[in-house]
Amino acid sequence: MKLIDIDFVITTDRSMMTNHHGREFLGFVATGPPIFLPEFMWSYICCPKPKVDKWGRPREAPYGLRKIEASLVEAGFRASVIDPDYVFRYLSKAKAVLIGHHDYFAYGPPSSEWWLITGKVPINRRLFTKFMSRLAEYKKKYGFKVVVGGPGAWQWQWEDDKIDLWGVDTIVEGEAELVVKDLAQKILDGKTLPRYIQVGIDDSPRVSQIPVIKGASVNGLVEVMRGCPRGCSFCSVTLRPLRHIPIETIEKELEVNASNGVLGGIFHSEDVLLYGSTSVIPSEEPLRKLHEVAVKHLKNIAWAHVSLAAVVVAEHQGKILSKITDMIYSKMNQRYIGVEVGIETGSPRLAEKIMPGKSAPFPIDKYPEVVEEAFSIMHELNVVPAATFILNFPGETADDVVKTIELIERLRSYRSIIVPMIFVPMGKMRGARNVIASVKITREHVEAMKVALDHSLIWAERIMNEFYLKDSLVLRVLLKYFMKIVQWKANGVYRNLGGFVDRELVIPKL
Ligand code: SF4
Repeated sequence: MKLIDIDFVITTDRSMMTNHHGREFLGFVATGPPIFLPEFMWSYICCPKPKVDKWGRPREAPYGLRKIEASLVEAGFRASVIDPDYVFRYLSKAKAVLIGHHDYFAYGPPSSEWWLITGKVPINRRLFTKFMSRLAEYKKKYGFKVVVGGPGAWQWQWEDDKIDLWGVDTIVEGEAELVVKDLAQKILDGKTLPRYIQVGIDDSPRVSQIPVIKGASVNGLVEVMRGCPRGCSFCSVTLRPLRHIPIETIEKELEVNASNGVLGGIFHSEDVLLYGSTSVIPSEEPLRKLHEVAVKHLKNIAWAHVSLAAVVVAEHQGKILSKITDMIYSKMNQRYIGVEVGIETGSPRLAEKIMPGKSAPFPIDKYPEVVEEAFSIMHELNVVPAATFILNFPGETADDVVKTIELIERLRSYRSIIVPMIFVPMGKMRGARNVIASVKITREHVEAMKVALDHSLIWAERIMNEFYLKDSLVLRVLLKYFMKIVQWKANGVYRNLGGFVDRELVIPKL
């Protein structure tokens, strides 16, 4: 096979280098262990191989890798994203392999939670371990450098034995568009590399320093904002400055995706409804312009995240949400919009302690009512949320969990998936591995899991039948089979969940 001339191979493992059949939602399946199905079938459902060109360059690649590629290429370095199946053909000549990942060792949510509950290693960790073990063999032979980064970089501190085992030279934590150019130059000059780089706020790129991607991103994901103004203490996003990407840049990236045949899009932001706003109040004009460019270039659009308070304000303020969804449904090929939302807790007491800005501009003691109203608005407008809440926050009481259970019960009539997460210490609360590696489950936690499971099983089937998977027959059959097994297993889980009460769940160090 002919290879392109590159010094820097940018890549990741199969759990990341995939478009999940064009259904971002299926990416969640890659955070679980392969249960009920053989591993190859589970992998096919969640992470099929992407289309690649004759040089092994994937048609779609994770957005973060595309940004690193663009930074290096614009600075004159010879770099390209390469599919993990093709990486090994480049290693005899490569100067470095740059790897990005959301969840290297499956400690992020929800991987760690599936791991704790099932006692089985999630598929993303299995695939990453396999990839790195093979890479390490090649590194011994050819001596290229290995640099790791991305949102999951913090996990290397909990697995520091793997740094030498797999020959990792540098770990970059934080936004890497600027520092990667210095690193690349040091690698070409044969200089010693730092073992660890923490990119602080001052080293984060300004908007004008964030390059436009050169190749298509997975499922057309395009960033519209970085950072979040709400400042929740458990969230790593709060460690970044808040920036809005100019509409011209967003349009250029949509064009890159469309010209590569990726006609679906995902607007990525921690709160898409705050695009172009200088406060926590959504602003109609920039949101309208943002969606006009989507209508111009794409067939469909999804939102990565919105905050529930912004949903309520956007509808109270001149029905902004109704207008935007009307525009999308009347001009694009879709009848619903998928989005992730974070409920986190139904307890005003706990909310005030850990996320006082989450409900703004509404007072935090009204947070449960805000959540309920947001769900009702989204239900009416066919905005379908995949919602999460968090158990085992530091300082959580039994009564806090009861309040969360009551809130989820009140959400029963609204179309949504609700998934419990177990607290992972990130952001300002970042701490030691043992906070998630060993978790004591209470009766209230079990009850909250049951209520959420019940809610999600009912709605998952309805959502699938109503909106999802109209085209791919094979995938539809597989997923229906998968859903049936999950429902059947869930009955067993219901019966057995009680067995978790007061048990210490443990993730062993592998
Ligand atoms: S609202 Fe979401 S993204 Fe923003 S700080 Fe809170 S948890 Fe993080």
